[in-house]
Amino acid sequence: MAVSLDPRVTKVVAEISTGRIAATMKKLEGFGTRNPHTPGAEAARAWIAEQLRSYSPRLEVRLDKHAATKGGRFVRDLEIVNIVAVLPGKSEKARHVIVSGHYDSMALVRKPGAATDWEATASAPHAPGVSDDASGTAVVLELARVMSQYEWEKTLVFIAFDAEEEGLVGSKLYAEDAKKTGMIVDGVLNNDIVGNDVGGGGKNESARVRVFSDDPPDGGSRSLARYIKEVGERYVPSMTVDLIFRADRFTRGGDHTPLNDAGFPAVRFTTEAENYQNQHTATDNFDNSSPSYAANVARVNGAAAAALALAPAAPEVTREAAAGAMKGRRVPMLSRGESGYDADLKWADPKDAGPVAGYVVTMRATTAPYWQKEWYAGAVHEYTLAGVSIDDVVFGVKSVDKDGNASPVSAYVLPRMIFEGAAAAVQKK
Ligand SMILES: [Zn+2]
Repeated sequence: MAVSLDPRVTKVVAEISTGRIAATMKKLEGFGTRNPHTPGAEAARAWIAEQLRSYSPRLEVRLDKHAATKGGRFVRDLEIVNIVAVLPGKSEKARHVIVSGHYDSMALVRKPGAATDWEATASAPHAPGVSDDASGTAVVLELARVMSQYEWEKTLVFIAFDAEEEGLVGSKLYAEDAKKTGMIVDGVLNNDIVGNDVGGGGKNESARVRVFSDDPPDGGSRSLARYIKEVGERYVPSMTVDLIFRADRFTRGGDHTPLNDAGFPAVRFTTEAENYQNQHTATDNFDNSSPSYAANVARVNGAAAAALALAPAAPEVTREAAAGAMKGRRVPMLSRGESGYDADLKWADPKDAGPVAGYVVTMRATTAPYWQKEWYAGAVHEYTLAGVSIDDVVFGVKSVDKDGNASPVSAYVLPRMIFEGAAAAVQKK
């Protein structure tokens, strides 16, 4: 099925300014160090909030403050401040699309013997943190600026997290609050180290970006990652999105993980060309960065966030089992049909799904990374593929609006069967 481009998404991509992203990266570098123990962090907070407030009166900007006590990587009591800007949506206001990065920075000081000296690290050695993660913050600000000029079906949330370097602290606090309040999140696009395209080993990769997503293979984060690849490459054809089916890089962490762990679909954008000599040192600076690369990553983010914010919610493909061994549990609405040899798929609309024009059924081999086939089913809630075994392939379904904006795919996943009834009936001799 040919897909048309939505002019509203095209506009976002076109309006992202490399110059503005460069200016933000340079400005954040100018605060010296943005370790939360330092005055640089305070100055950066005020400046980021002021920028967000200047973009549009419709952008609701707040400072989420949390008191943190001495311990772990905090060498004294201090305040952790996430900067959050909310752009309320129209028909799907309760659904949120989050674009995030972290504004704090850190230059690691080691003790003799290579253990980190957190006391010395906190006392403000020069940490420009331009690629890590002024670049991600610049992506957040630029998308907030461009997207706040327009209206979207879903609510957009732009976040600059604090204290990522102290153990994902800001994002953990945000994820806890979001879970507690029952926030509905359709996607988190977290940007961390997206500001350089030349790696320490000499690798130069300016037209590709990695997107990390945690398991399970058909969970929300993975589905969001596939969505970003499809939509991002459609609207930004010069960029290739390399999906990494893994939570993150070895021994490293990011703010997408607490959100993923809280049950929200969340992924991480990161350069293909990491420079370990610069990261967490005084040379992660503007001169070693590439604002044009960060701008291209912002365009991929913009395409995905805009399409997701316009699209209806993904269909519901499970229901609660009324009887049998799975009673009370969620089971996929998938059966072998009346013949016993077909694939019969059913789905339902979540409440507040927004205006849906129709549904697309997708299929792939269980071993295939990406969806391989799709059928436009129309404005129905059931579709049968005659003679197709439900056991041998993966099926999914997505909802589409009248302009062709699709939701991420909801996949029919094999539930873990419970055979405890049979086990209990067997008596030990
Ligand atoms: Zn980082």
